[in-house]
Amino acid sequence: MESPNFIHLQYNLSNMNKPRPLYLDNAATTRCDPRVVEVMLPYLTEAYGNSGSRNHAFGWEAEEAVEKAREQAAALICANAKEIIFTSGATESNNLAIKGAAHMYAKNPEGQTGRGHIITALHEHKAVLDPCKRLQKEGFDVTYLQPPADGVITVDMVAKEIRPDTILVSIMWANNEIGTINEVPAIGKLCHDKEIIFHSDGTQWVGKMPTDVERDNIDLLSWSGHKMYGPKGVGALYVRRRKPRVRLEAIFDGGGQERGMRSGTLNISGIAGFGKACELCQHEMQAEGERLLKFRNRLETELAKAIEVTQVNGNASKRVPNITNISFGFVEGESLLMGIKDIACSSGSACTSASLEPSYVLKSLGVGDELAHSSLRLSMSRWTTEKEIDYTIASITKAVLHLRKMSPLYDLFKEGVDISKIQWQTH
Ligand SMILES: *Cc1c(COP(=O)(O)O)cnc(C)c1O
Repeated sequence: MESPNFIHLQYNLSNMNKPRPLYLDNAATTRCDPRVVEVMLPYLTEAYGNSGSRNHAFGWEAEEAVEKAREQAAALICANAKEIIFTSGATESNNLAIKGAAHMYAKNPEGQTGRGHIITALHEHKAVLDPCKRLQKEGFDVTYLQPPADGVITVDMVAKEIRPDTILVSIMWANNEIGTINEVPAIGKLCHDKEIIFHSDGTQWVGKMPTDVERDNIDLLSWSGHKMYGPKGVGALYVRRRKPRVRLEAIFDGGGQERGMRSGTLNISGIAGFGKACELCQHEMQAEGERLLKFRNRLETELAKAIEVTQVNGNASKRVPNITNISFGFVEGESLLMGIKDIACSSGSACTSASLEPSYVLKSLGVGDELAHSSLRLSMSRWTTEKEIDYTIASITKAVLHLRKMSPLYDLFKEGVDISKIQWQTH
């Protein structure tokens, strides 16, 4: 076969020729950068070796690709390549970090209580909360910090909860629903002073904002390829090797790959793509961030100008530039999404899941059910254009104003009735 350049092949997706919505859901997943795809392709075709094969060229070239990616991933966070463990994504990285550290540093053996204390926060991703819940069942104590209204976890909040038996703190760097940035470097410093292992879920941070695991006092850092223009199904965990040397109990047992911390044949093409995505982010994040911050400000100010009773959720300034989360009063979340079908984004209304509960993240900040249901998360990418932002502003404005024309509550509000004083019938 000739060296293929599949990027230019005709795709055969059933809906490829239909108009597709404008994509503002990049905190859910991003498009894989074509420059990343290009790096990945040879490892699916000619260079299909197993990096564990030490005795032939197929194995060597696969290993070379993995070690290059390891350098690229390490460079993005100012770590040593030896400190990078490749995983299947941030869910696995978080599980390995949290369960792996808890089991390794447990105060008491399995089956006993009082095995150690862990601190995390209520608005963490489920991939942090659920491992913590499982550890509770195994005899660990977990404190879930209640975030303040602006969503930012400060070092003081963590300091207040530290106990003599605290073994692990896990606080995400940037929140995936509202984009707020926690005081991670300061929390890391506190943990180092107290000799407590510090893990951060950096999935929405790494590749978007400058990261230095030394300066920022990180022991364990998770991130994922598909949130930063890399492929799905590949991620990394940074594991500190000195001051202190962090040890983890593995979750998978098997071939002993990744220094025994993550057995299983490596996803060579995915890892090569992940490395390239890291390199691209390192070079492009600054200009990209500045551009997206202007777009985000434009979205927020123009929507607030055009529509009254809107609220941007989370701290106004301590946020990553690519995410905004806005609640629109007097509209119903589901109807709002229907009204902006040409924009792919997320809502605080969990209408797609089995539950009718609105976003637990917004609820943990004290946002009321109504406003949580009627919130939109708009998240941009390196390909988002000014034209798309203007279209989005117009489209949301039109939809909200239309829905409010049909809202009796909005009428009452316009007449000056204090809605919060109305006695609602319970059902
Ligand atoms: C997407 C996301 C995850 C899960 O990542 P996967 O790679 O899809 O497993 C974990 N944490 C945060 C903050 C995320 O945004």
